[in-house]
Amino acid sequence: MHIDILTIFPEMFEGPFNHSIIKRAQEKKLVSISLVNIRDFATDKHKRVDDYQYGGGSGMVMMIEPIANCIDSLRQKRNYEEIIYMSPDGDLLDQNISNQFSMCNNLMILCGHYKGIDERLREAYITKEISIGNYVLSGGELAAAVFTDSIVRLLPGVLNDETSALSDSFQNDLLSAPVYTRPSEYKGMKVPDVLLSGNDKEIFKWRQDRAVQRTNARRPDLLKG
Ligand code: SAH
Repeated sequence: MHIDILTIFPEMFEGPFNHSIIKRAQEKKLVSISLVNIRDFATDKHKRVDDYQYGGGSGMVMMIEPIANCIDSLRQKRNYEEIIYMSPDGDLLDQNISNQFSMCNNLMILCGHYKGIDERLREAYITKEISIGNYVLSGGELAAAVFTDSIVRLLPGVLNDETSALSDSFQNDLLSAPVYTRPSEYKGMKVPDVLLSGNDKEIFKWRQDRAVQRTNARRPDLLKG
């Protein structure tokens, strides 16, 4: 999979993409991620990417030209299944959406700033808009990092234990069962016996029961589906 992320702050991704699972996925060449600086496609000598909004009002708007130039240039090299704009009024990100996008070959993700991007970009270029929650961030970078992480960890070969992602919360509309590691007893608090029993069938059943219980208690809305 290849992901192009269009941003005016490429440095913001250095932390999230250079550690842990995403780092390993890139090293194993299971995903390549390019950070594309929108400013490089600005047309005036000041490399301007934002301007005042028509009709007045506070807050700048990201201009159509640099972003359109950037998208056009990238599209000459690749066929993108989706051009995604991270936006608080987009579809609310969930595991289903991440599962679907993990099957794509080429994705483009656009990060907005200020008041957002010129509406004409959304009409002419954007094929999907995704929100990571009902709150407003200062820019799309953190949202794009969250979205990218949720996709990359699903790519075959990224997680060491192939089945691990399938037992995470939200797969099968269930939250994850509780997990424990050594020691088996800490200050009188014991790990449930069944997990130490070695009986795979019983362990599977216990985990399933606990996942359902937890989902019922915390997220009954998931069970309705
Ligand atoms: N004026 C806009 C908010 C702009 S916030 C509005 O009220 O809808 C600036 C940028 O941050 C947006 O362009 C978007 O790319 C990003 N952003 C903010 N909140 C987000 C969220 N919840 N999910 C995804 N992206 C978000």
